[in-house]
Amino acid sequence: MTSSTTSSSSSILRSELEDLVALFEVTSTDTPTPDAEREAALEHPKFGTVFTDHMARISWRQADGWVNRRIEKYGPLQLDPATAVLHYAQEIFEGMKAYKHADGSVWTFRPEENAARFARSAHRLALPALSVDDFIGSITALVRTDLAWVPGGEDSSLYLRPFMFASEPFLGVRPAAEVEYLVIASPVGPYFAGGVRPVSIWVSEDYHRAGPGGTGAAKCGGNYAASLLPQVEAQQHGCDQVCFLDSTTNSYLEELGGMNVFVVMADGSVHTPELTGSILEGVTRSSILRLVADQGREVVERRIPLAELVAGLGDGSVREVFACGTAAVVTPIGRLAGGTFDSKVADGEPGELTMAIRTELTDIQYGRAADRHGWMRRLA
Ligand SMILES: *Cc1c(COP(=O)(O)O)cnc(C)c1O
Repeated sequence: MTSSTTSSSSSILRSELEDLVALFEVTSTDTPTPDAEREAALEHPKFGTVFTDHMARISWRQADGWVNRRIEKYGPLQLDPATAVLHYAQEIFEGMKAYKHADGSVWTFRPEENAARFARSAHRLALPALSVDDFIGSITALVRTDLAWVPGGEDSSLYLRPFMFASEPFLGVRPAAEVEYLVIASPVGPYFAGGVRPVSIWVSEDYHRAGPGGTGAAKCGGNYAASLLPQVEAQQHGCDQVCFLDSTTNSYLEELGGMNVFVVMADGSVHTPELTGSILEGVTRSSILRLVADQGREVVERRIPLAELVAGLGDGSVREVFACGTAAVVTPIGRLAGGTFDSKVADGEPGELTMAIRTELTDIQYGRAADRHGWMRRLA
């Protein structure tokens, strides 16, 4: 094991990366997807429906630590019905993308940030910490094995889903002594087929996704389970997605079920809810804060009252609202509705800064613009 990669800000040298990848024993599938079938799947990949031929895997046993680093055939897991995760939801995950550049090289975006967040999520869910080295080594080994699955089309990428769960079969409330870590990969096309379209948001005043001292800052499946019913309610109100408020006062904006939220004021300043412990710290969020500050704009992380936002939409002091996350990058919000209001954001069309930030970020990710912050890491 190399020792220089423990902090989230340090990057892994290419020579070290080769050593990390070499720790993974590759057992190739005996039933690879035929080339024609894979190429057809890569032409119009639908998010999260098609998976590559292999998966990365590491097992953890309390007595031995992380063992058996491997790349194996993608396929179903056999689980005892008493497997702890099925009962007590001790599970975390990450989401990132591998991007193919014009010269055929394959890159990912700020993976050390995902690795650090994965370790924070593991801590909160009483799961064992996986090192940054194993996190980066596993995604690199998988992408190299399934390189033919990285799509080259515009706004296409290979979505990477690292996750960890309590695999020990037992009924009892304590941290599991057996844990599995896996990475699966799914080719994805443009999130908005046919052009970026503003979404409508239902602000839920009946449900919350997280509370003080809860798991809101951890990327865990349980948070998503809690967001499904409010999401259905949003759709019943004719909206695409749900936005949550803080659970203490039911008055400040937090975030969507899986995306952070930004507000652009008429004076050009950019505001986003501050991290209070119940909001997930998005890598896209922190990157946008940096890019916007680089433009010389005022960026403000603060508590944003829903009432202020609704009033600002009415009097024109709020000009744009958008959501952000790895999957959809930047999503314009064209309408906000709730129990007592239904407001268009400006003229309801994608905002100018929203679209400019989206372009700036994707240009860096796809290698079309200089990576001046050193955010990109080459995988293959
Ligand atoms: C993953 C996630 C985000 C976005 O994080 P990124 O690192 O930008 O992809 C935002 N909110 C929640 C609840 C999430 O799970």
